[in-house]
Amino acid sequence: MNENDKEITVTSPLLPQLEDLNEMLKQIWDSKWVTNNGQFHKQLEQALAEYLGVPYISLFTNGTLPLITALQAMHITGEVITTPYSFVATTHSLWWNGIKPVFVDIDPDNCGLDPEKIEAAITSRTTAIMPVHCYGKPCDTERIQAIADKYGLKVIYDAAHAFGVKVNGESVLNFGDMSTLSFHATKVFNTLEGGALVVKDAATKQRIDYLKNFGFAGETEVVAPGINSKMDEVRAAYGLLNLKQVDTAIEARHQVAIRYRDALRDVKGIRFFDDMPCVRHNYSYFPIFVDAEQYGTTRDELYFKMKENNVLGRRYFYPLISTFSTYRGLESAKPENLPVATRIANEVICLPMHHALSEADVEKVIRLILK
Ligand SMILES: *Cc1c(COP(=O)(O)O)cnc(C)c1O
Repeated sequence: MNENDKEITVTSPLLPQLEDLNEMLKQIWDSKWVTNNGQFHKQLEQALAEYLGVPYISLFTNGTLPLITALQAMHITGEVITTPYSFVATTHSLWWNGIKPVFVDIDPDNCGLDPEKIEAAITSRTTAIMPVHCYGKPCDTERIQAIADKYGLKVIYDAAHAFGVKVNGESVLNFGDMSTLSFHATKVFNTLEGGALVVKDAATKQRIDYLKNFGFAGETEVVAPGINSKMDEVRAAYGLLNLKQVDTAIEARHQVAIRYRDALRDVKGIRFFDDMPCVRHNYSYFPIFVDAEQYGTTRDELYFKMKENNVLGRRYFYPLISTFSTYRGLESAKPENLPVATRIANEVICLPMHHALSEADVEKVIRLILK
C-alpha cells in the first residue's frame, strides 16, 4: 500500500494489550459475576475517583445516560439553558426529560457557553444550565456559577471531552452540581462504550446508583423510576487496563499538538487554541478555524481536499444542534440568536489527533494545510 493510501483518521481507540485483557476476562469467567457492581466495576470507580481527583463517581454504560440520569436525579423541569455547539446527545438528554432546551451563543475563545449571554435567556421557567467543556477546554465556570447562584439554578456540565482536565490542580469535573463523562471509543479514555456521572456526596451517589439500576434499593424495593444503564465487568476490566496507559496517550497527543501549533502558527486565516495557563489539558481534539477570506480557501474546500488525500478530519460541531429538525423550530434556535456558533460551525475542522499518529502522519496533515 502506498503511503498516501493509508487513511489518517481523526481519532483511534486506545486499546489495552489483548493478553492483559484476556487474563482479566479469565477472572470474570471464573467468578461468573459479569455485571451489577462486580469487582472490576468497584475497582474502576475507585481508581477513576483517585485519578480524576473527584469525590464520587458512578459508572454508566455510555455517556448519554448519565446526562439523562443527572437531570432525573435533580428533578430538572421547564427550560434549561444549553449550547448548540456540541454533540447532539447534550440536547437530546433534555428532550428525553421533557425539558425545553434554550440555546445560548458561545464564546469564540473556548467554544463554551458565553456567560455574557446567559442572563438574557433566563425566564421564570429556567431551572438549570447545561454547558459543555467543548474540546476539553474549561468553560468560564466561575461566571457560570455566579449566574446560577444569583437565579437559583442547577449546573450540569457535559464534560464528555474533559477527562483528566484540571484547573489550578483541581479537576474541572468538580465544578457545578454534577458532571458527566463519556468513555466512548473515540474519547481520550475509553471503555469501548461507557460513561460516568461525577457527584459531590455519598447520598447523591447512592441515588444515582439506584437510578442506573431500575431504581432498585435492595432486593424488593424500588425507590424511583430508574433505568438500566450499568457498566458490565468486561468493560470495567478494559477500563482498568486503559487507565494505566492514558497518561502516556495524553502525552503523545500533547506532542502532536505542539507540532501542529509550531507548523500552523503563521498561516494566515488559520486560528487554533493555545494551552491555557494553569490548565492541565487532555488534547482530546485539535480544532482549527478557517477564515475563508484570509486563508483564501473555504473550510469545506480544505476539508474535502484533506479527505481526497485520506486525511479524515471531522467538522465537529457542524451542523449546529439547533439546526436539526427536532430543534430548529425553537425561538432560541434561530441563527440570529447564535451568530458566533453559526460562524464557528462553518470554520471548524478537527485535525487528526490521537496517541498513535506517526510523525509522517502529522507532517502530511500539515502539508495539506500549508498548501
Ligand atoms: C461523546 C459525547 C457524548 C455522548 O457520549 P456517548 O458515550 O457516545 O453516549 C455527549 N456529549 C458530548 C459533548 C460528547 O462528545
